Amino acid sequence: MKPTFHHRLVNNFFEDPCVYVRVLREKRAFLFDLGDISRLSPSDIQKISDVFVTHTHIDHFIGFDILLRALLRRESPLRIFGPANIIGCVEGKLKGYTWNLIKEYPLKIEVFGIEETLVRHSGFYAENRFDRIDHDERPFDGLVLKEPLFEIRAECLTHQIPCLGFSLKEDFHINIDKAALGRLELPVGPWLTKFKKAIRENAPEDMEFAISGKKRSMKELKEIAAITKGQKVSYISDSSMDESNIKKIIAFVKNSDTLYCEAYFLEEDRERAMERHHLTAKTAGMIAREAGVTNLVAMHFSPKYRECPDAPKKEALMEYNR
Ligand SMILES: [Zn+2]
Ligand SMILES: [Zn+2]
Repeated sequence: MKPTFHHRLVNNFFEDPCVYVRVLREKRAFLFDLGDISRLSPSDIQKISDVFVTHTHIDHFIGFDILLRALLRRESPLRIFGPANIIGCVEGKLKGYTWNLIKEYPLKIEVFGIEETLVRHSGFYAENRFDRIDHDERPFDGLVLKEPLFEIRAECLTHQIPCLGFSLKEDFHINIDKAALGRLELPVGPWLTKFKKAIRENAPEDMEFAISGKKRSMKELKEIAAITKGQKVSYISDSSMDESNIKKIIAFVKNSDTLYCEAYFLEEDRERAMERHHLTAKTAGMIAREAGVTNLVAMHFSPKYRECPDAPKKEALMEYNR
């Protein structure tokens, strides 16, 4: 099965946490967290349409400047989602530069500050020298972004400060049965993309597709599509270890195919983890096990473990496989 999303860590485990999610067959990508992104290629950066920031500690937000500079001449807008203070943080970053020569530039930045029950929205547009424009707020019920192919949800967590967890879920996945294609003597081609789109949009059975000069109805074509559960990818970084927070995380990441989860401290440094409002590797493993996660990626390790770089991952996986 070809997945719809490819996802990967941008940096190594001791560097800034940041996951790049490429939407296949579209010139589009997302970022979970905006730490140092200087390892991304210019073409990877150009594809970024939406950024989901857990919180604005410097290791999760310092990449904003690189992103901004790369996208200044881009026609399509950039959306940034984060906790309530994200709007002020973006505004502060933009105020750090002088913008008298960008009136002709197309970039529009839409910023969404997520709280327990509402989402505030402000826009910063190059044509307006990035002065802040406040838009209407909307109620928040966990859903951040909904598109025909997928949805993104957020959970409000605590890391002493408000901090968000994110999860990306594909509605369902459509696989084309090559054997059935052969039986119906149908060629592979761009019509398959239209066909898949029609399935997602619940098109009527008499809808027709022109394939190599012949017309075929949705009804005739149904047997070539096998529908399976979509991917779920979750991202949790920097979170306090109090009980209600952990319960929330387990429910939120339930049945993820992949969970990226911070494992900042080892269990032997549990006290330090409590003081600094981080998870231990063992806790990350427990969360993944309890939530029935298929693949755990432990990440965001404290530099104090550089001498034993595999230890956090080992501890997390040992608890996960217990
Ligand atoms: Zn961090
Ligand atoms: Zn933090």
